[in-house]
Amino acid sequence: MLVGCLALNSSFEPLTLVPTRRAVRLVIDGKAEIVEADRDRSVRSANRRFPHPVVIRLTKYVHVPRRFRRHVTNTFLFARDHYRCQYCGRVSAVLRPRESLTRDHIVPLSRGGDNSWTNVVTACSSCNTRKANRLASEIGMRLLHTPVEPHFVYLSWAVRKLTPTQSKYIRLFYGAAMLHEVERTVDSRR
Ligand SMILES: [Zn+2]
Repeated sequence: MLVGCLALNSSFEPLTLVPTRRAVRLVIDGKAEIVEADRDRSVRSANRRFPHPVVIRLTKYVHVPRRFRRHVTNTFLFARDHYRCQYCGRVSAVLRPRESLTRDHIVPLSRGGDNSWTNVVTACSSCNTRKANRLASEIGMRLLHTPVEPHFVYLSWAVRKLTPTQSKYIRLFYGAAMLHEVERTVDSRR
């Protein structure tokens, strides 16, 4: 199943996933070229037929600010922690029906903690309720890992569904180690 088209910068840096229609539009307008297509499928636009684009490359380089810091959303937080409660170690798939993954503040907000990457972890609702507005050490709970700020590339791609053809371009640009990390997270979400 195709979930979108991977758009590369002119430098081949993977930028984002765009809907197929939008990818075709960019190609028609001369703003992008098709790098990989699904030859078995085609897209009709106006009176023309196009191979179904899987990867496109922008013809002009788009500057992307490198110091951009991603906001800590729960989507990214859970991905960073591999969808695992950082206290009891259970993954989302084995939680009970009424439980869910939540955001825990290591130093609670009520005690001066903030929402930075190093002060938030994924916790199941049971662990979060038990900890409440205390420090883990005060009630004998322990973190499995000390949280760190993840690499922006990792975050961008761990929450997306990529086809093998598209993954190839993550590896090409960022190396096999980064792709491995991304795939590890995608697998743990299942
Ligand atoms: Zn837990």
